Amino acid sequence: MKQKAASAIQCSTCRDHQYVVFNQKGKVQAEACKCVACEKCHGTGRIFGEDSDGISRIRICECADLAKKLKLFNNAGIPGKFVHEGLSNYEITPPRHRSLKDALTRSRTFIKEFVQMKGQYSQGLLFMGEPGLGKTHLAVSIIKELILKHGVECKFVDFFELLKDIRHGYGEDISESDFINPYVNVKVLVIDELAKGRNTDWELTILDHFISSRYNDDNKVTLVTTNFKDQLENEIGQHDKGNQRTGISNASTRYTLEEKIGPRIFSRLMEMCKKVNLQGKDFRQEQF
Ligand SMILES: [Zn+2]
Ligand SMILES: [Zn+2]
Repeated sequence: MKQKAASAIQCSTCRDHQYVVFNQKGKVQAEACKCVACEKCHGTGRIFGEDSDGISRIRICECADLAKKLKLFNNAGIPGKFVHEGLSNYEITPPRHRSLKDALTRSRTFIKEFVQMKGQYSQGLLFMGEPGLGKTHLAVSIIKELILKHGVECKFVDFFELLKDIRHGYGEDISESDFINPYVNVKVLVIDELAKGRNTDWELTILDHFISSRYNDDNKVTLVTTNFKDQLENEIGQHDKGNQRTGISNASTRYTLEEKIGPRIFSRLMEMCKKVNLQGKDFRQEQF
């Protein structure tokens, strides 16, 4: 082990990951590092050549695996602000609440089990807790790793943004399913900020379609983040304290997740995902 740690990194640009990541137009993108530029196929992933029987065929180049992973990564829709986020830089040292360490462990376990079972795995994770605890950081880190290390097709969707796109689409004759299907069909999906917004009947109908389609397919895994909890704090006193501290009464302390999305969607979600509760103080507020 020591020897391995001591071995020098060959490429300072990618630290031997073979790719570099960057934020482009608000999305995280990746490209092959210069150190792996393939001379055999010139980056196309295909080699056209004559076999021993004299017939010309197209062969898949050995670099195609990386190219496939990068393509999946660039289609995943990961928001640009998470360009450098990963499980290795998720902050858990005290005074951070110990539930965050647990959330990190469970994220790692999820990846391990998913890979061990070769994707024949349908139980996702539901990250619940106040804003600023890094729920999206964890969910994004999971799909980054599944894509770049294991070549799994994953996508990220901000459901609130998707609803906006669908609404715009009506005016341009683009059907709902054109927007929804890429997400419904993907192997691993992150739904970020579930239950954000007003949750009108129309919004809940779309959400129901979304969740039900994935629920009915044993082969799909859904990772969800939400600011809403499954139970409200019992003591009224705690509520008051909370409201005094922030000066506002936010929706996530007034409603449960079930109240926001309805019992049917909620119960399906509970079957599809294991709950991961995050507690403690907002990272971003602490910085001020
Ligand atoms: Zn490199
Ligand atoms: Zn190649």
